[in-house]
This record gives sequence, structure tokens and C-alpha cells, in this order.
Amino acid sequence: MQVKAIAAVAPDRPLEPTTIERRDVGEHEVRIAIKFAGICHSDIHTVRAEWGEINYPMVVGHEIAGVVEEVGDKVTKFEVGDHAGVGCFVDSCRECENCQAGLDNYCLRGNIGTYNAVGRDGKPTAGGYSEQIVVDENYVLHVPDNIGLDEAAPLLCAGITTYSPLAHWNAGPGKKVAVIGLGGLGHMAVKIAHAMGAEVSVLSQSLKKKEDGERLGADHYYATSDEATFEDLRGHFDLIINTVSANLDLAQYLSLLATDGALVQVGAPEKPFEVPPFALIAGRKTLAGSMIGSIAETQEMLDFCGEHGIGAEVEVISADQVNEAYERVVGSDVRYRFVIDTATL
Ligand code: NAP
Ligand code: ZN
Ligand code: ZN
Repeated sequence: MQVKAIAAVAPDRPLEPTTIERRDVGEHEVRIAIKFAGICHSDIHTVRAEWGEINYPMVVGHEIAGVVEEVGDKVTKFEVGDHAGVGCFVDSCRECENCQAGLDNYCLRGNIGTYNAVGRDGKPTAGGYSEQIVVDENYVLHVPDNIGLDEAAPLLCAGITTYSPLAHWNAGPGKKVAVIGLGGLGHMAVKIAHAMGAEVSVLSQSLKKKEDGERLGADHYYATSDEATFEDLRGHFDLIINTVSANLDLAQYLSLLATDGALVQVGAPEKPFEVPPFALIAGRKTLAGSMIGSIAETQEMLDFCGEHGIGAEVEVISADQVNEAYERVVGSDVRYRFVIDTATL
């Protein structure tokens, strides 16, 4: 079927309306009517070719929430009418050590991205800034009914990308967790770490969003533009999640870790970081990274958010506001996730 979508056509040109083809539903596949699609900073890095060259035109979007409209003959996990989500990948090899171990986000043959990839049918994949999507049921998530689909969409990337390292590094009671950057990922990290019972601090560029941060669940809020922040908090945190989309002086932030603490990089700026060895050696510190989460862990995160009534703070926009929204995200002016209402495509 032909469906409406928004496509990037060049790194330096606005996104524009288009139509794309969605395949017929295969026996193990579901067709989802997309209701809302979140705008992740990764969409922007991708369409602006900051992570490398891409093939235009490209439809991005990997924070997808909608309603199942059709299921293949052999589908067992979904029924028509179910609330469903799709995140950053739509398939993986299913055979490698990591896929077998339930770590399909780290598929050793590379999973198949929701966009900017080639699907099993040999055709380029196209993401969530569109009306419909067809996905194998094993890569589709159940969205809890008590979370609105607009607030649920960002959980499919921002939610899982922050839940996964928080869970892996045991955020919980007695743990001091800092979140760098209060954007899409950062605000989800605050909500989730708070729900896990950790003592949560935000490290933001300024105090402009302090009230919001506290309302979202932060116990403390600091401005990184204030040098006193780095003096007062030296050796303070067990875990720091860095969600910033630009390069920071990581040595400065590593100095805020307690002995044996970990700084987990989830932000993915264009350029490499420079880290002096002693920033890690002194204090047996860990500098780690984390990429989204597996399908199983994404479902675990959605169930956790359902239990705790956690959705994203969203600003719902129409399709013609996407380019303006991109500029606002790049300017750190997002509160806290833009979500496209696909009815306006
Ligand atoms: P976002 O909404 O733009 O949030 C990033 C936040 O970082 C901003 O709101 C801002 O917070 C802070 N920031 C921005 N520029 C800064 C600068 N020059 N110096 C200091 N702080 C700055 O972006 P997002 O969608 O959350 O994504 C964040 C990053 O994570 C992106 O690089 C994205 O590609 C990456 N990502 C990675 C994964 C993964 O699997 N690892 C998944 C999704 C996204 P304040 O205003 O509070 O300072
Ligand atoms: Zn994303
Ligand atoms: Zn695999």
C-alpha cells in the first residue's frame, strides 16, 4: 500500500512530504497504523549525515506507537486493535551468540535498523514519520493501555536507552545517579532512575529547567556552567549517564565519580572524545557505553513504565512543524520530546 510520510532529501535541506510503499503483511508480520512518532536526536544526526553518508530520500523515526490493524496468519502475539510499539530495529539475525542470549540489540551481524538499513525483503527500511509500518511480530512491543500513545512513543528509544544502563548498573535505593543533559533521553533517565529508587541529580547547562527537573523526579539540580558544581560534587556519584548530543570534556565529569563508579555514554556526538588515562586509573573508574536495549528488555521497560505510570513529557506537533522542531532540538529547546501526530501527514 502507498502511505504518506515525511522524508529527508539532503543533509542541508528541510524534510518534505512524500509517499512510500509498505509491503503486504507476511504470515509472521503485523501492520501497525502509526499514531505518533517521536523525534530523537539520532534522527537529526542521521538525516544531516553527521554519522556518515546516507541514501536519500530517507524516512526516519524509530519511536513508533500505534494500533495493530492487520496480522499475518501465523501471528500469535498480537491481535487487531492492540496498542503496539516499534523501536530502533525491526529484525536481527536471530542466530548469533548475542541474539540467542536475548541481546538482539547487539546482534553480531548487525540488526536491521527501522530506517537506514536494508530489510530481509532486500528493500530499504523506512521509519516512523509515516502512516503505517509492517514489522515481524517478534520485533513489535506491547504498549501498556494506561500510557497514552503520544507519551508512549518516546519510550521506544529514549525510554529503553536510559532504562537499560540504569538497570545494568543497578540504579536503585542507596545509589547516587547523575544524568547529564535534560533533553529527550535525559528526562526519561530522570523519571526512570527516580522510579527505581535512586537519588537522582541533573547536570544541565543552566538552571533554566530546574523546576521541571525536580517535578520529573530529580532530587538535585546543578548547572555545569557553574564551576562550583565540579568542585562541590567531586567523587560524589556511583553512576553518571551522559545523554548529551555534543562533545563534553569527559575528564571533568569522570572526576565526579566515586571510586568504582561508572560513566555510561549514551549520547552519540559526531566526533571522538579525548580521555586522559588518569581520569580513569585514579579511582578504578569505568567509562562505558550502552546502545538502546534488547526487544525483551524493551518490553520489560514498557511494563515497568506501565506499572509506574511513566510516559514521556511530549509536545505533540503536526507534520509541517517537523523542521522547526529539529532546530529547537539542536538548540536544546525541547521540553522534552517532540512527537509527530501522524494524522497530520
Ligand atoms: P536532545 O533531546 O537534544 O537532548 C540532549 C541534551 O543535551 C540537551 O537537551 C541539552 O540538555 C544537552 N546538550 C545539548 N548540547 C549541549 C552542549 N553543547 N553542551 C552541553 N550539553 C548539551 O537529544 P536526545 O534525543 O536526548 O539524544 C541525545 C543523544 O543520545 C544524541 O546524540 C542521540 O543520537 C543519542 N542517542 C543514543 C542512543 C543509544 O542507543 N546510545 C539512543 C538514542 C539517542 P541541557 O539543556 O539540560 O543541558
Ligand atoms: Zn533514538
Ligand atoms: Zn544476531
